[in-house]
Amino acid sequence: MMTCFINKIVVLVFISCLLMTNSFAQNNYASADIFLGLRKLNVLGTVLYVAAHPDDENTRLLTYFSKDKLYRTGYLSITRGDGGQNLIGDEQGVELGLIRTQELLSARRMDGAEQFFTRAFDFGYSKTPQETFAKWDKEKILADVVWVIRKFQPDVIITRFPTTGEGGHGHHTASAILANEAFTAAADPARFPEQLKWVQPWQAKRIVWNSFNFGGNNTQRSDQFKFDVGGYSPVLGKSYGEIAAESRSQHKSQGFGVARTRGEALEYFSTTGGDAMTTDLFEDVVMSWQKIAGAENINPLIQSAISSFDFLQPQKSVPALVKIYKALLSFPDGNWRNKKIAETKNLIEAASGLWIESFTQQQYAVQGDSLRINSLINNRLGVNATIYRISFDGFDSSFQTPLSPNKNLIINKTVLIPENKALTQPYWIKEKMNEGYFTVTDQTLIGEPDVQPSIVATYDIIIEGEKFSFSKPIRYKFTDPVKGEIYQPITVLPPFSVNTNPSLIITKKNNSDQTNISIIAKANKGIQYKKTEISLRLPMVEISSEIDTLKIFRKNEIKQYDFSFKPLNIGKEEFAYPFVKVDASPQQAFMALSTINYDHIPSINYFYTDGVKFLPIDLKTKGKKIGYIIGAGDKVPEALEQMGYDVTILTDKELAKNKLKDFDAIISGVRAYNTNEWLNKYYEKLMKYIEGGGNLIVQYNTSNQIGPVRSKIGPYSFTISRNRITDENATVEFLKPEHSVLNYPNKITDQDFKGWVQERSIYHATEMDKNLESILRMNDPGEKSEEGSLVIAPYGKGFFAYTGLEFKTTHGRNFI
Ligand SMILES: [Zn+2]
Repeated sequence: MMTCFINKIVVLVFISCLLMTNSFAQNNYASADIFLGLRKLNVLGTVLYVAAHPDDENTRLLTYFSKDKLYRTGYLSITRGDGGQNLIGDEQGVELGLIRTQELLSARRMDGAEQFFTRAFDFGYSKTPQETFAKWDKEKILADVVWVIRKFQPDVIITRFPTTGEGGHGHHTASAILANEAFTAAADPARFPEQLKWVQPWQAKRIVWNSFNFGGNNTQRSDQFKFDVGGYSPVLGKSYGEIAAESRSQHKSQGFGVARTRGEALEYFSTTGGDAMTTDLFEDVVMSWQKIAGAENINPLIQSAISSFDFLQPQKSVPALVKIYKALLSFPDGNWRNKKIAETKNLIEAASGLWIESFTQQQYAVQGDSLRINSLINNRLGVNATIYRISFDGFDSSFQTPLSPNKNLIINKTVLIPENKALTQPYWIKEKMNEGYFTVTDQTLIGEPDVQPSIVATYDIIIEGEKFSFSKPIRYKFTDPVKGEIYQPITVLPPFSVNTNPSLIITKKNNSDQTNISIIAKANKGIQYKKTEISLRLPMVEISSEIDTLKIFRKNEIKQYDFSFKPLNIGKEEFAYPFVKVDASPQQAFMALSTINYDHIPSINYFYTDGVKFLPIDLKTKGKKIGYIIGAGDKVPEALEQMGYDVTILTDKELAKNKLKDFDAIISGVRAYNTNEWLNKYYEKLMKYIEGGGNLIVQYNTSNQIGPVRSKIGPYSFTISRNRITDENATVEFLKPEHSVLNYPNKITDQDFKGWVQERSIYHATEMDKNLESILRMNDPGEKSEEGSLVIAPYGKGFFAYTGLEFKTTHGRNFI
């Protein structure tokens, strides 16, 4: 997140995909992974790391716990990182959280830890935990932390930040306050008793703070407990610092690529709750099978499997693993029993060399349409195995087929996706969210990191005489000529996806102009209706429907319905939504599909209602042509077009052509001077443009190490600071009320500073040349005022402006 910059200096750690399922890559198990998995069977220790954001976690420590100590290791990130800046695209808000969720899961696949979240929304920077809790609903988020603790049952809880504020960001301090309160509350049956239907109270042994040294902010002290986590794993051929760097570098939307590290790396801790430690973080915690009454016979079985493990023939361990599995089944139900049964089952699959998968050749499954599913099973090491059943939605087959050594068993089946099959939607955006947290009504989903897989296949196989059931998400598999074989999750679509265009209409008072809106319906499957009725609903305004009779849609056919009307009565902000009625079915709002694709994470798909926003403002515009230099990604060009401007995107090439004087203004996108090295070439040219009467408006750039400013910016010197106004409702004082920027062509008033989201302004100008004038003054509650959010200077016949004002919306989409 923009505010987790301090963590950039933290070194991280990671490891291979030991015994994990994911929707991105097919699992492969080397003998080294199986060997570590066997050793892990004897370890009954659990540790939970708690912080506020994706990137706060100490990846090196997680790797060390997961890969060296073989503990069950978890990271609870209070938020999904929805706030802050996006270094790889223009997604913001909820969409950015969807990306960062997948980046964290990608990181966990490397370091071997498990991932959890709460419902809290990352609404942007806050300076204090009080400000944070005012938005999060503290009791709700505390309940989620308690729930994760009761489910995961950690022996030790570790916070990244202290409760005393040295972590900076209010979310950071809040995460530590929540973890420390939850440490006690999780053990108290009187707290959140509604959870006890599914989980039991849980008392961890202790909670500790993992102090840090982030360059200028060093909280490590010689009297704190410390140990070295910078070791090397000969089994994996990597240092924990190397694996951590691979994991950390998955946070690409935050620009957190880091170098692999080797050598001693001390981590420091101090106890903040529970029994203090003197010699070990896990002091007085039983980490072996002695933890479970009656499990004395398990340890020798596992020891024997470890000592006889053959790296060339891991399948020789399968009979011993089946014996362990049966012994575990005989235990009374319990957390560790169930975890170790799952681990043992995974090891049996891995050691036997079984390849089990079902895939499709299309990424989308459409409600009411058919889907061809291909299953492939291969007994690559020739263990004693017989498959007797495969089942998934719409298919269930019993048979008795011994699996021959290294022969592909292929079963292809076309199934019908039921019309009422749920659309694939991340669970946390299924219901309308609140300002500071997502709405999740199903308690059992709380804490879950990912979207539930759309279709799951179950394979029942007898291995060494014992019945096993393996469940795998069915995935879309294809071969890209450049990237090679790729797996992606399958998304269930409705028969129609419906979009509207445009997304925003600015209306003027008493405007009688004709307004045009298009509804674009895409048939996701071949359909034939007797009658379709497409309509647009806007409160107070009657918009006629378009009715077609006997309408036939081919699969993937797109049809556009145009509506033209006069939005006479729109006096306040309103949304119009598209509705579709087919045959005798009730009229319903169909959803639009949005897809986010990046190479380092699985493809993200989600649904939203694509409405048209009517915004009644009396907007005057002056000039017509705007040149826009794209920065790290923002929605400003789109907004300018909605205001009626012609926007030309200025790239390196476009700027090289000598035609800047055609533009009434040139605006640089957020962090354009951080991201575009080539802007340096055009400094003189841009200054000449201003001299000749142009207007150059530079939106904020950062001054941190992620991307230094690569070029001179304005005609007069100023420094970009880290000063910011985080209270989005902070009072704005007009220092130069007569200045043209506040009067022409529109009169700017207090009203224009209402309804802002996340933050008011960031990265302010300081140490300015006397020619630069400050226009606005604002301050956060209890802090000194800031005058660098908008600075302007005349230069030649034109004007230069630098602004830290945040021109953005929180959610980007209308999530219902
Ligand atoms: Zn953070």
